[in-house]
Amino acid sequence: MYSGPDCEMSNCEVCNDLKQKRSGMRLAIEFTSNELEHAALVKKCRFCSIILQGVVLMQDETWSVMTDTSTINAYAFSGDTLFLEISFLKEKPRLVLEFFSDVACPDPMMRKAIWPRPTPSGHPLSKRAIEWVKTKMDQCSNDHICHSLEPTPLPDRVLSFKASLDGKITICVSEQKRKLGKYATLSHRWGLNHNFITTIANLSDRKKGISWNELPKMFQDAVRFCLELDISYLWIDALCIVQDDPRDWEIQSAKMADIYHLSWLTLAATWSDCNSTGCFSNQPAEYVEHSLDFTNLTQDTCRLKVRRKLSHWATNPTAIPTQDNPLLSRAWVFQERVLSPRVLHFCLQEMIWECCEHTICECGGLSNNLTLKSLFALATELKVSNLQAGNESGRSSREEAVQSVIARVNEQQSAGRLDADFDEIDDQFKARERRLETSREIALQTHNSKVKEAFVPVKQWHDIVEHYSKLNLTKRTDRLPALSGLAHRMAPFLGAYYAGLWRSSLFLDLAWRADRTSDYRSQEYIGPSWSWVSVNIGVRYSNMEDIWLLSRQSFVRNTDRHRRESSYRRPIIRSVQATAKGKNYYGEISSAVLVVLGLLRPAHLVEQYFLPPTDMATFELEIELSPASSCKVPRVSGEES
Ligand SMILES: [Zn+2]
Ligand SMILES: [Zn+2]
Ligand SMILES: [Zn+2]
Repeated sequence: MYSGPDCEMSNCEVCNDLKQKRSGMRLAIEFTSNELEHAALVKKCRFCSIILQGVVLMQDETWSVMTDTSTINAYAFSGDTLFLEISFLKEKPRLVLEFFSDVACPDPMMRKAIWPRPTPSGHPLSKRAIEWVKTKMDQCSNDHICHSLEPTPLPDRVLSFKASLDGKITICVSEQKRKLGKYATLSHRWGLNHNFITTIANLSDRKKGISWNELPKMFQDAVRFCLELDISYLWIDALCIVQDDPRDWEIQSAKMADIYHLSWLTLAATWSDCNSTGCFSNQPAEYVEHSLDFTNLTQDTCRLKVRRKLSHWATNPTAIPTQDNPLLSRAWVFQERVLSPRVLHFCLQEMIWECCEHTICECGGLSNNLTLKSLFALATELKVSNLQAGNESGRSSREEAVQSVIARVNEQQSAGRLDADFDEIDDQFKARERRLETSREIALQTHNSKVKEAFVPVKQWHDIVEHYSKLNLTKRTDRLPALSGLAHRMAPFLGAYYAGLWRSSLFLDLAWRADRTSDYRSQEYIGPSWSWVSVNIGVRYSNMEDIWLLSRQSFVRNTDRHRRESSYRRPIIRSVQATAKGKNYYGEISSAVLVVLGLLRPAHLVEQYFLPPTDMATFELEIELSPASSCKVPRVSGEES
């Protein structure tokens, strides 16, 4: 019988028997191909032998494990399966492999490192894919607080279609006002050649029928998918808005937020760059899975699988979209995604389901962190349920459900965001964060949870802007219009809206900074310089608790002398206004003015850290501590506090 120390000694020097080497959250081991081969073939380590077999199975004509690799990293986050990151000697992108099993790994020694993972369906129109989507639909309608699957009023104009028994699909543009039904929406990128649109000239023909072969592949795919789900109506912007009729465009674009919000399901061609590619990507051959069999200690044959790790987007709500999901980098698409109750993303290698409570991919590799979309949906649903709380007996249970999901979100969110944010940023930045932490704690201790609660919608808006401001627009002047649907839905929380800022949180909203230190102002007028819309790059907000703390304390807080000088006055908004260009109050503006009264003190912006290649700089504000009595205190009649 083995004693403890003997067991320790028996661990393989290369893979440590897939246990983490030091105590920590994850397994992380680095070795070379020679070390791996020696451990597998000479020392007969069965773990190394499985890893080597898996790597060999994944070799292709461009590389071989023994001659082309430099290092191999094996890692597994807690609760996740084993990944192998292979670095190459020559310039070749690193390759990440995923080892997994179909069911719980039959070898107890491996169960901690090898997790079960499903196999993606391969094609969204396959029987398995449709079953997967239908199961998600059922879960969503039965267990989630997401919108119910009742028929809703159809948009003014939709594509209507049906398939005959021989599979022939007839399709037309339908204008049946106030009809109830279930319809899907399409979220797609137009691309440069988007000439298949509805115009004044072709509208009456389109109402009679559209020839199937005329339809771009993207729209054909979407229609086929809808038919599989028994949906007979689809809203596509290019076909359901008369593109050369400014009046129709203004009416329909104003309704766009509701159209997505009431849709049954939004189909998102997330992987695609333009209409001609179609909705669905054909899973590239290199993502095929390989099986590897081995004999465990009790001489049973076990089967593991290995494949290239599938590309997922970061679940951090404000993360920059990845290259593999070009649709997510488009600003106009952002509110379509956030406002839709359910989005089915067609990604490069699989589908991702995203609703108010679930973000789930077919391969099981995406953690179910709630996204910005989920957070927004939960926040606005909560508001609706609060407003309607009354006689309806079902209300309180719904509200409780929303609250419990939010609690869960917050837990996952804070954990997730710390990891994701800090990973990206330099250690110096972390140190600064820690310093600020102390002042934040003071702020939170001194104030009760009510203040924290009031921050929630403001924080929500800041998250939205931090994410949205990074996204790409073809027309820069669309910076406000492409967010107007979301702004409209946030209005019940935040009140009057001025060029991307809210009256109720104006001082917090003013505390944004651009991600880059130069060359970021738009040439054309998009908004006033005090609004984030005036810059054409991503912005970040200062921590709200820090600003709140500043507004509570005097700017001068270092000495008793200054603390005694209580002539410090909080700033006062004298007036704020913005003039809309068209009829959309949340859309483009032609001018905006903000008048603020407050004490002025000389201050210098001092650059602390500059972090290439992101160009992100951190500044500290050095405020001259001249006596407050030397500053002029404004006199204002009818002050606002
Ligand atoms: Zn080993
Ligand atoms: Zn749901
Ligand atoms: Zn996946």
